[in-house]
Amino acid sequence: MLTVRVLILGGTSEASALAGALSADDRYDVVTSFAGRTASPVLPPGRIRIGGFGGSDGLVRYLGDEHIDALIDATHPFAAAMPWHAHDAGAAAAVPRVRLYRPGWTAQAGDRWHRVPDLSSAPERLTELDARRVFLTTGRQELAPFARLSNIWFLLRSIETPHVPPGMTAEVLLARPPFIVAGERELLRAHNIDTVVTKDSGAVATVAKLVAARELGIDVVIVDRPRQPPGLVVATVVQALAWLRSLA
Ligand code: NAP
Repeated sequence: MLTVRVLILGGTSEASALAGALSADDRYDVVTSFAGRTASPVLPPGRIRIGGFGGSDGLVRYLGDEHIDALIDATHPFAAAMPWHAHDAGAAAAVPRVRLYRPGWTAQAGDRWHRVPDLSSAPERLTELDARRVFLTTGRQELAPFARLSNIWFLLRSIETPHVPPGMTAEVLLARPPFIVAGERELLRAHNIDTVVTKDSGAVATVAKLVAARELGIDVVIVDRPRQPPGLVVATVVQALAWLRSLA
């Protein structure tokens, strides 16, 4: 029986779930790749590699050196560069590629959402909304655009300790998803939050803050996703597994 060598570009719960599903199947030899941003990532079963490839050329070399048969780009919906590198490298190396890309969130009745095209547009929208106490959930590495908002108090939540830029008034909360609605409701109330800022990650593990904000009538600034490369897209791990089987 021929083994199919699969490279999963990881950093999401879907990537880890996929690696877990494939690790139990000896038809596949799987390696999951991480960028190496998180000091203590929760690693999936199976082989792991950590660190960039060196652009799309580096990824082409890796695909060839490791005799990869299938490439699954399961990076985060806000990973702006890697999906394009995967697209270019998959084409150059003639390795079949699929993008595992979870759907974004959809507004419901009662939501007070304000969509912005990118993170750098969020501070201006906060000023327009006259926000004063903001729950910022966009991640520890993207705080700089908010530093000039000196009249806003921020509650920052991230998995690892952020570097709070000078001039930013903030309290830091270290926590790892999943979060539940009751906890998010209590957090918003206890800190007297008037506005939440989030990326449209679409994740089940972090949707509770949106439910709590809806219940409390709180404004939410939602950052839209970056543009994706063309090509086949699947929304779920099950669909990604079906795509792999279809290659055989
Ligand atoms: P990015 O802008 O698309 O990637 C920047 C560079 O990091 C890439 O050019 C690549 O370096 C390296 N890289 C990214 N993903 C990689 C992977 N899975 N394996 C090996 N190298 C990788 O992505 P990012 O926004 O910096 O995110 C980095 C990682 O964190 C991704 O794996 C993503 O899934 C995860 N993540 C991102 C977010 C977010 O909001 N952006 C949230 C949660 C998790 P080379 O060019 O040298 O190959």
